[in-house]
Amino acid sequence: MSFLKKTKAITIDGPAGSGKSTVSRLVAEKMGYVYVDTGAMYRALTLKVMDKNMDFADEDAIADLASGLMLELLPSCKGSATIRVMMDGRDVSEAIRTMEVTQNVKHVAKIASVRKKLVHLQRKMIDGISGAVMEGRDIGTVVLKDAACKVYLDASFDERVDRRLAELRANGRPVTRLEVANDLKQRDHTDKTRKVGPLKKADDAVLLDTSDLSVTQVVEKIVNYAKDVIRGKRP
Ligand code: C5P
Repeated sequence: MSFLKKTKAITIDGPAGSGKSTVSRLVAEKMGYVYVDTGAMYRALTLKVMDKNMDFADEDAIADLASGLMLELLPSCKGSATIRVMMDGRDVSEAIRTMEVTQNVKHVAKIASVRKKLVHLQRKMIDGISGAVMEGRDIGTVVLKDAACKVYLDASFDERVDRRLAELRANGRPVTRLEVANDLKQRDHTDKTRKVGPLKKADDAVLLDTSDLSVTQVVEKIVNYAKDVIRGKRP
């Protein structure tokens, strides 16, 4: 992974609702880095499988689909927390955030050959650029394991449920607290127990519990940490 010597990378991993997306986007903005939301890539592939009425058990066909995936991750409009995602020339930014897609991502995310292809694509996306903030589940442990600046975000379960609920309702999705809690519990379990690329804090990542911190405080802590690493003040 020699390109990492050229690309300064900040990896941000953590469970759903830990505040990763909002924080990662803002850190990227402050550092002048490119922001890569890898969850959006797994979501887009899941949507494509659903659109084609494919069987989630057909791992080879899904891996083939991953090989031909035409994805563009574009900056969001000002004020929006999520990026714009184009798949095969179509704007799927909204379609990849439905509950159905969210519940089905696990089938796609557990396929080793799919992960291999998406990891390759993720590395290629930042190859040669000066700086990137990449967020997901396996960024510090697999995708950019040589990165100098790694963060693992977490928050209490209740706080994560509240945040997801607020986010979904703000986007006009009528969900109950129980539905969100069940979804998070199930995703925590499948993300942490899958055999390839499970959600896990890298040994050399800084752990940040965001339960009692504002977004601004979390962003400030990560930016300060990254600047210290760049200046050589941290190992
Ligand atoms: O980050 P987000 O919640 O949008 O991710 C959706 C799902 O995609 C996660 O629950 C996880 O199963 C999968 N994912 C993954 N590896 C990543 C990013 C996301 O398996 N690097």
